[in-house]
Amino acid sequence: MHSKKIVALLLCLYSLAASAQDWNKKKAAVVLTYDDALNVHLDNAIPALDSLNLKGTFFLIGSSPAFTKRIDEWKIVASHQHELANHTLFHPCNGSLPGRNFVTPDYDLASYSVRRITDEMTTTNTLLHAVDGKTERTFAYPCGDTKAGEASYTDAIKENFVAARGVQGEMVQKGNVDLYNVGSYMINGQSGDELIDMVKKAMQTHSMIVFLFHGVGGEHSLNVSLAAHSKLLHFLKDHEKEIWNPTFMEATKYIKASGTAKKTNR
Ligand SMILES: [Zn+2]
Repeated sequence: MHSKKIVALLLCLYSLAASAQDWNKKKAAVVLTYDDALNVHLDNAIPALDSLNLKGTFFLIGSSPAFTKRIDEWKIVASHQHELANHTLFHPCNGSLPGRNFVTPDYDLASYSVRRITDEMTTTNTLLHAVDGKTERTFAYPCGDTKAGEASYTDAIKENFVAARGVQGEMVQKGNVDLYNVGSYMINGQSGDELIDMVKKAMQTHSMIVFLFHGVGGEHSLNVSLAAHSKLLHFLKDHEKEIWNPTFMEATKYIKASGTAKKTNR
């Protein structure tokens, strides 16, 4: 083979390999997600993100007072290019599982139908549309549960959402991503250095890491301190040439466009 052709072939192979591993031309993607529509998201997390021009995804519960009583503030959050995402209307979880004493009979997913959970999702999409005007949405499974009663409701998710976040801890690799159950790391009590070590692992393995926060400086039993959260954000800002910080919507659309999602996905 002519040497120029060999060089061209090698360059082609190199660019294919590189594009398979990069995240929007960076080493890793770090997605910051915040669940359950808490006051501390508006009071602590978003000002910290905005001060460094970083982006977060807020999985909102449509009935949460921190949403219903502060809608004007969520409009501003959306205007700052954070993502308002869907975490159902009433946050139903399966109360028959271990450690689920907090689930009340009215909102026990074990006694729901798929129709009922779908109605919660679509109503919340309508609420969020009224806030930010958007028609595309991502979803996070409350408590990570994917069944209403005995039936999986994942197909109903596919009808209504671009992607969905799950709760299994994983470094997400391009190539075989289930866009309707993307893994995440639930954060509870980690130090800033421990959070940064997780990001460094994502950089070393050319992965996407999705952080799942609840409380930020309080308000929830699953919590990260303000200091640890701030230390993580500053690390992301200091390494912005190597780390992409998309919203969950941007990240999953990117995966979909790059053709590396599971073929069963829409
Ligand atoms: Zn939740």
